[in-house]
Amino acid sequence: MQDISRAKSAELYEKSKTYFPGGVNSPVRAFKSVYGTPLFIQKGDGPYIWDADGNQFIDFCASWGPLILGHNNAKIREKVTEVMQDGMSFGAPTALENELAELIIKNNRFVEKIRFTSSGTEAVMSAIRLARGYTGRNKIIKFEGCYHGHSDSLLVKAGSGLVTFGKTSSAGVPKAFADETIVIALNDKQAITEAFAQFKDDVAAVIIEGIPANNGLLIQDKDYVEFLSETCTANGALLIFDEVITGFRVGLEGAAAHYGIKPDIVTYGKIIGGGLPVGMYGASNEIMAHISPDGGVYQAGTLSGNPVAMAAGIATLTILSSEGFYEELNVKAQVFVNDLKAHIAVKGYELKIFTVGSIFWFAFTTKDIKTAEAIDPASMDKFKIMHRELLNRGIYFGPSGYEVGFVSAAHTDVELDKAKQAIFEALEVVYP
Ligand code: PMP
Repeated sequence: MQDISRAKSAELYEKSKTYFPGGVNSPVRAFKSVYGTPLFIQKGDGPYIWDADGNQFIDFCASWGPLILGHNNAKIREKVTEVMQDGMSFGAPTALENELAELIIKNNRFVEKIRFTSSGTEAVMSAIRLARGYTGRNKIIKFEGCYHGHSDSLLVKAGSGLVTFGKTSSAGVPKAFADETIVIALNDKQAITEAFAQFKDDVAAVIIEGIPANNGLLIQDKDYVEFLSETCTANGALLIFDEVITGFRVGLEGAAAHYGIKPDIVTYGKIIGGGLPVGMYGASNEIMAHISPDGGVYQAGTLSGNPVAMAAGIATLTILSSEGFYEELNVKAQVFVNDLKAHIAVKGYELKIFTVGSIFWFAFTTKDIKTAEAIDPASMDKFKIMHRELLNRGIYFGPSGYEVGFVSAAHTDVELDKAKQAIFEALEVVYP
């Protein structure tokens, strides 16, 4: 099959490379792990996006998660447009912040008080500071295979050994920061026990993605997450669920409700901004009382609670909190994934699809994968072929085999059937 035309995208890319490192404003967009130059996107509508060359795609990337209602949802657009008539930023409280906060807190047993930020990175960075301020301790434990944004303390990867200080995963992060972050493997109770044995009285928090979805979809057993929660409580450390992807994606109360486990602090982003820049962290009244100006933990933001972003969040969460929203979305996604799985089984491909709610991930293996280490980097060559074949058939997946895909409320049977057919054909090329 002939590759799609990328002439206009390629031209824009040549220009963008003169303005931005790698031609992009976030590295994964540069298409370094897949074939061809990045596609420049011109517009989106419902389940579809169009690139600068006029190619149309059914989109399963959803701007990396926020667009649970699909592109350019009319209700969000109308609300944003209405709010914008009155101005775009005041740096002062507005009623819109209350309205979005109410939609979040009313729908979520796990938070009593929240603070809005402008990105997921900021939310997590602030949650870590809050945990440290609240406990008076320094160290945090994170997991290999979980991504929590690009703040210094979290750009840290595992060293060698079961429990070690982390190693920085980005140039420019001082070793002193990495020394405060312990990185251990997921799905390993012994590693948790040992980390607490070694650093007992200095662990402020353990941070985990509610359901890790940034390095494949690494679904953890409930029993393991319960153990994690109990170990934190026993040692006076806080448990932080980073729900930037899972928040309002797997259900109104995120991964916390999925597991039935109460985290001490949660972080949200993506969906709560309906496609505009928003993040949030939240906890009990008691813990949040430590945030400035009530308490001594400083955190602020010029555009925090920005009215236009709040408007997009309000319109989005109003729809998500309507009766049966998640049931319908999740059933639709699971039917789609089950059809794909049935086809894979008939063909006998070395391929598994991991899935929860409306999130799915193709793993080119027959193993059950719960840790970052279990992913064979060589398997990404197969994703690369699938990605190219899907683009050629009008299906857009995020340009990396480590990234998950999302089914949105805007996907109908028409798009899902078309996507299934395209995936079947693409797999014929992957497994000739
Ligand atoms: N935490 C998680 C779990 C994420 O998935 C992300 C973004 N992919 C972040 C934090 C950082 O969010 P942002 O990109 O909005 O800074």
